[in-house]
Amino acid sequence: MEHEQRKEALRRAEQLKETIHDYEAALPAIPTGFQQWPRILQNQERIRSFLGATDRDWQNWRWHLKHRVTTTELLKRYLPLSPQQVAEIDRTGELYRWAVSPYYLSLIDPDNPDDPIRCQSIPSILECADRTGTSDPMDEEHTSPAPAVTRRYPDRLIINVTNQCAMYCRHCQRRRNIGEIDCATPRRDLEKALDYVRRNKEIRDVLLTGGDAFMLSNSEIKWLLEQLEQIPHVEIKRFGTRTPVTLPFRIDDQLCEILSRHLPLYINTQFNHPLEVTPAAQEACHRLARAGVSLGNQAVLLKGVNNDPFVMRKLNQELLKLMVRPYYIFHPKRVKGTAHFWVKIEEGLEVMEYLRGYTSGLAIPNYIINAPQGYGKVPLLPQYLLWLGRDEAVIRTWENRIIKVENREMGD
Ligand SMILES: *Cc1c(COP(=O)(O)O)cnc(C)c1O
Repeated sequence: MEHEQRKEALRRAEQLKETIHDYEAALPAIPTGFQQWPRILQNQERIRSFLGATDRDWQNWRWHLKHRVTTTELLKRYLPLSPQQVAEIDRTGELYRWAVSPYYLSLIDPDNPDDPIRCQSIPSILECADRTGTSDPMDEEHTSPAPAVTRRYPDRLIINVTNQCAMYCRHCQRRRNIGEIDCATPRRDLEKALDYVRRNKEIRDVLLTGGDAFMLSNSEIKWLLEQLEQIPHVEIKRFGTRTPVTLPFRIDDQLCEILSRHLPLYINTQFNHPLEVTPAAQEACHRLARAGVSLGNQAVLLKGVNNDPFVMRKLNQELLKLMVRPYYIFHPKRVKGTAHFWVKIEEGLEVMEYLRGYTSGLAIPNYIINAPQGYGKVPLLPQYLLWLGRDEAVIRTWENRIIKVENREMGD
């Protein structure tokens, strides 16, 4: 009897193994930043030599900001660009600014024109061709009850603290705010935003973002956290920052020290591809985790970058090793100049379909589409509840087994 059960369990285990053979076969074509690190270090040598950076410069986030690559003149030293490519980048750059931190640039494979890091950071002429999107599909401009504030929910809001980023994502959903020059939100606007939070006692969750909230100096971040700490009804603070991905050296000791004194604190970042998961990114995330900060990831589903169930599965598994919990996958918004990244909802559902059951529940984020006009985030999920009757329901498992379950209370 026991022997029979063991045999059955072994048969089942064999069957389970078969369900990930396709994933295992796909993995060699999905390299991570860890696997590519030796090549990335060589890239860094090249970049450092033409920018004249010392070892210390490279570890210094201020140096990276000051030396963001913003001209094709410099970019040509790293990427082989044809005269036509140079002209296209220059033309696109006139419409939408671009800048890449030397660190993020070093993640690009110069020989791969379709490199997912390159797609996210180097302008494409397709941005100019897009006449379909709108500049503010979320209508953030009309959901701002106070300077720098976006409020769409009853108990929480966003304060935009800067428009600056270490790298301007080509898929940026707030392109209209990025403009031509970097500017931190003026102190008087921050004061008004904080006043708004103070006057509205139902606000228990304040999200500081931008731009990239970690473009502020440590002392500005300290000031904001101290201000929020003094508002009794603010229970939690959150930051939105892509610096663990685009500029990991930003997560310095002093910043971690400040953050650790203002818990509970949540940071959401944006890893979109396993190549972004590098030893440097890991160091940044582990530092934040050691400071007591809880880390989440908000990926954006992007054609040519991560619209592939296996890439997304690998990404989310890699993130757990960094102590970053996958939080959201955003369906791309219809922002003007980003149409070449758009995907169909079916693709997002397929990504979700190949997470549940196949990998740890911890590696499964929620797939979100933003309702137009700022009506908020809406979760989308493949259909697992096939039928719901008065006394029974029909469900579908991750392996597509269709099963009837009872749906009765005691005595029903
Ligand atoms: C996304 C967002 C939030 C945070 O939403 P959560 O689902 O709580 O993470 C808050 N305010 C605005 C305006 C948002 O767009």
